[in-house]
Amino acid sequence: MTPNRVIGVDLGGTKILAGIVDRDGVVHDRVERPTVTTSQTALLDQLADVVRELPLDGIAAVGFGIPSRIDFATGLALGAVNIPIRDVYFAREMEERLGLPIEMENDASCAAFAEFRLGAGQGADDLMAITLGTGVGGGVVSGGKLFRAYTELGHMVIVEDGEPCQGACSGRGHVETYCSGTAADALARRVIGPDATARDLVEQQHPALEEIGHHLGVAIGSLVNIFGSTRVVIGGGFGIAAFDLLVPAARLAVLREALAPSGQTLEIERAQLGTEAGLIGAALIAYDAL
Ligand SMILES: [Zn+2]
Repeated sequence: MTPNRVIGVDLGGTKILAGIVDRDGVVHDRVERPTVTTSQTALLDQLADVVRELPLDGIAAVGFGIPSRIDFATGLALGAVNIPIRDVYFAREMEERLGLPIEMENDASCAAFAEFRLGAGQGADDLMAITLGTGVGGGVVSGGKLFRAYTELGHMVIVEDGEPCQGACSGRGHVETYCSGTAADALARRVIGPDATARDLVEQQHPALEEIGHHLGVAIGSLVNIFGSTRVVIGGGFGIAAFDLLVPAARLAVLREALAPSGQTLEIERAQLGTEAGLIGAALIAYDAL
């Protein structure tokens, strides 16, 4: 049999999702493991182990979505904020471990691409996806094509000299500082109690979520002024769970910050592919490269 299927892998700050994905985006034989963060080598080894848990018969390539900036000229993964990835030729390392062709892209760009092709972004040629998870990721489709750049939308400054960002990021006042699931956990501890998490904020439909929604809307308004997106898709574990509670405040901020008529016409949608968007997008990118 000619190898004709691909594996998609989504490397997240807390978990790794992998699965065999067919061309229609249907995921088979899904594997989920907590992310090993002890060292870069341990993490790369674990990624290979997770892929090997899947049946490799008929597999033509593996696509990885990784939360890192990528230098596409050299294949260097420059660095991740929340996991130990830094200055590593990621695709080469995985090729050596797996003996299969490897494609890689930023994880949130993968999610954006999957939503564009198969989910909440269908029909919009100028699309932005923002994933609210451990960190905040972003991806942009412009003129029907995935914009392959850093697109670290989560590390855009929305509060000058604001609160320190998280992980390996030296910045302050970034979107991730205020809108990530991690930030929501911290907010929950402040407004509910020491054991509370983002999940409690969502379950209680807590008004503090408006604060996060406002920050998110400020970010979206600015980004729409740059990219001209007509639709924004909100994904990631926290983003999907809290979507209905974040959007009203976000919408108000977008109305103010985005230049007319974008504020009025921008569509804000919940991701349809759920937390599988990243792995599906990574697979689609690997298919496109075959
Ligand atoms: Zn940051």
